[in-house]
Amino acid sequence: MFFSKDDSEKLGKEVITNLYYFSENQTLDCNQYIIKDNNTGELSLFDGGNAISLEGLFKGMKKLNLDYENITKIFLTHEHVDHVLGIYKLLNILKADPPEIYAYGETAKILEKGEETKILPVMFGLTARRFGIEIIPLQVNDLRNLKKIKISSEFVFETHHTPGHSLGSVCYYEPKKKVLIPGDLIFIGGSFGRYDFPGGSLSTLINSIKFVNDLDIKYLLPGHMGISENGNKSVELSYRMIKTMGSFY
Ligand SMILES: [Zn+2]
Repeated sequence: MFFSKDDSEKLGKEVITNLYYFSENQTLDCNQYIIKDNNTGELSLFDGGNAISLEGLFKGMKKLNLDYENITKIFLTHEHVDHVLGIYKLLNILKADPPEIYAYGETAKILEKGEETKILPVMFGLTARRFGIEIIPLQVNDLRNLKKIKISSEFVFETHHTPGHSLGSVCYYEPKKKVLIPGDLIFIGGSFGRYDFPGGSLSTLINSIKFVNDLDIKYLLPGHMGISENGNKSVELSYRMIKTMGSFY
């Protein structure tokens, strides 16, 4: 069956001090990242996963002495099911003191309106209910109004709108640490995000990858598959691959 319950532990790893990577579970899930503010103990979570995997994230966090009750901010890379459903469950669990949500442009709009068909495009053939989630309108901070996000004294991210995989896709870039969190724009091994979902576009995807190819990146932390500590090389490979694709059209 295409869809199965998978709440197994998400394996965690401290990539650099105070930045943690939790690898995706097998079924329609995504990688998640956590940054700890060492002064306040607050945690910022990047992407929500598919909701079913949330227990697995909590288990993985516990092993690294991270307490999910300290999550105060959630940053989303884009509006797709495997990246956002987990936030509905997390907001419910933390309803006494709910974390703030940040997303860019179209993603923020979709979440504010609670547009299920844009979170789960018809082609996924799934409903949120299948994941035990009801999509409700959320309060979201639109990153279009914020050029920089200070997560801690160590991590100050720039946000860059990088559509192509979806309309609301955004990259988070920390220039001092040379960290890029690109969502589903690019992956390691020369691959890149699909552009055949609603709002996707090959030419836009190529332009967005061209843009990040000019950034100085050591740690590439994508939404799926593995991560790279040789970011620039990896981005360049994806850029070369997609340019070859582009030449077919
Ligand atoms: Zn996606």
